[in-house]
Amino acid sequence: MGRRPLVAANWKLNGSIGLCKQYAEKLSNAPQIDCWVFPSAVHVSTLAKMFKESAANVRVGVQNIYTEPTGAFTGENSAELARDVGATTAIVGHSERRIHFMESSQGVAHKTAQALDAELTPIICVGEQLDDRDEGQAEEVVEEQLEAVNSHCSTAVWQHVTVAYEPVWAIGSGIAATPEQAQEMHNRIRVMIKNWNEPASKAIRLLYGGSVNSRNAGELISQPDIDGFLVGGASLDIDSFGDIVEQARIGDAL
Ligand code: PEP
Repeated sequence: MGRRPLVAANWKLNGSIGLCKQYAEKLSNAPQIDCWVFPSAVHVSTLAKMFKESAANVRVGVQNIYTEPTGAFTGENSAELARDVGATTAIVGHSERRIHFMESSQGVAHKTAQALDAELTPIICVGEQLDDRDEGQAEEVVEEQLEAVNSHCSTAVWQHVTVAYEPVWAIGSGIAATPEQAQEMHNRIRVMIKNWNEPASKAIRLLYGGSVNSRNAGELISQPDIDGFLVGGASLDIDSFGDIVEQARIGDAL
C-alpha cells in the first residue's frame, strides 16, 4: 500500500527565530512528501504563522502536551492550547519524556487521547533501552507501550495516529539501528497493530528515529515498513534536514 513518506523534525530544547525562518524558507516550495516540524512550545506560534501560506503537507506541532485540557497546572501546555496557536500535531511519549520526566505508558495513552480530542495528530514514540534489547525484551517493551494506548483509546485509534519507533540507544548516540534491525521492529509493530485493527495497520505510517542523517536515510527508507523519520540532532541544520527529506522523497519515487 502506498503510504506517503513523512519526515518530522524534533528540535527538542533548541532552536531560534532564525531557525524558524530557515525552515519557512526551505519548506515554502512544498516538498513532495509530508514535513512536520516540532519546535519548542514557545516557537510554535511564530513558526505556524510563517507556515500559514505553505501547503497542507507542512505542519507545526508540539513536542509534548499535558494529560489535562485546562486547569491549575502551572507551566504545562495542553493539546487545546497548542491547537489554539496553530499546532496540528503533537509528539507523545518521546523517550526523553519517559526517562527524564517519568512518563508512564498509561500517561502517554492519556496524552494520545487528549491530542485526538483537540484534533491534533499524535506521533506516539515507542522504543526499547539497550538493556531490553540485550536481554531479548525489545519487542515486549514496545508491545507494552502500544498496548497501553490501544486499551485506553480503543482499537480505532490506529486510524488517526502515527507511530515512531525510536530505540533509546540510537537517539543522539550517532549509532542508528541497522536497516535490518529497524525493519524487523517496524514489521513487528505493524503486525501488533494488525491484530487490533487490520485496515489501519496497512495505512498507518511508522517512522524510524535515532541518529538519522543524510547518509543512512536512503537505506532506511528503502525498507518496506519504514515510512519516514523523526529526526532530532540533524534537524537543527536546515541543509541536513533538507537532505533527509530529499532521501525520503527519492526513496518513495523508486
Ligand atoms: C529524537 O530525539 O527523536 C531523535 C531521533 O534524536 P536524534 O535524531 O538526534 O537521534
